[in-house]
Amino acid sequence: MINLFSKIVTVIAVTAVGVLAELKNKTAYPDGLSGPFNPGLTNYTEAPLQWFNPWGAGWIPQGCKDRFIGKGYDANDAEVFNIKYSDCDRAWTFCRHKDAQLSIEDMADSFGRMSVHMRSLVRHPIALPKSSGCSAQAYTNIGDIVMYGNCKGITVWLHETGHQLDSRLKPSNRFSGTTPWLQALERDSCVPDSYANTNTVEDFAQVVVVAQFNTLLGYKPEEAFPGCLDHRQGLLERTFQSDYLEYIGRCSNRPEDSKIVSTETTKRERMKMMKRAKAQEGNDPNVVGPCSFP
Ligand SMILES: [Zn+2]
Repeated sequence: MINLFSKIVTVIAVTAVGVLAELKNKTAYPDGLSGPFNPGLTNYTEAPLQWFNPWGAGWIPQGCKDRFIGKGYDANDAEVFNIKYSDCDRAWTFCRHKDAQLSIEDMADSFGRMSVHMRSLVRHPIALPKSSGCSAQAYTNIGDIVMYGNCKGITVWLHETGHQLDSRLKPSNRFSGTTPWLQALERDSCVPDSYANTNTVEDFAQVVVVAQFNTLLGYKPEEAFPGCLDHRQGLLERTFQSDYLEYIGRCSNRPEDSKIVSTETTKRERMKMMKRAKAQEGNDPNVVGPCSFP
């Protein structure tokens, strides 16, 4: 009964967030974050890639299989790789649909450019096809992030991992729903860009991009309204900078990998998985997105 009640409370809270059409009527970066932020992030970061190793055919992590089948794809079309970076003893298992616009090298590079602490919030990075552009989703109770289409920009990877930072596997305790964050939002006069105006969860993820850039380079691209999001950015940096945003240290507290299963799927299993994914779309507060960016 207690569990049921807490679930209901979570759903109501998230729905209430979704109802707020606009948080602010000013944007710090009216053309979006990609243009001002990606060049600096690309120039000053590199992925400490050590090796990558493809899995043999026939096997896939359950988390990847759920996404592939849930989105109408065949798990046999997945390319599964272990990717090892020099700053973490444990490799990450990536899954890529054979027709995804992102190559495995793109995925390993964009993901690897994030700090090891940010990467440690993610269980499986997943890439699926999209006919044009890029959108992305974060499964914040399990740590998976899914890129659809051409999502090479580091800002997108930081944004999705920012959703994981917000939740840290407990979406009912999102930092973006806490009183200090909401008070900081109240005191600020802008959102980073128009997408951040979607709701407080999307706003938090875009402020992560700003805070990450500032942590790394010691400044941020010029805002249309200087200082207009400083309360949120300052709070985010005070709370998470040393544990997550700094480009130092080693990986810790990573989510366990999902179990290894066969890529073969019976019709009955497929039907069940598709039905579960359908029910999740738009209803499950653990699933954030699809996020798409100006
Ligand atoms: Zn998002």
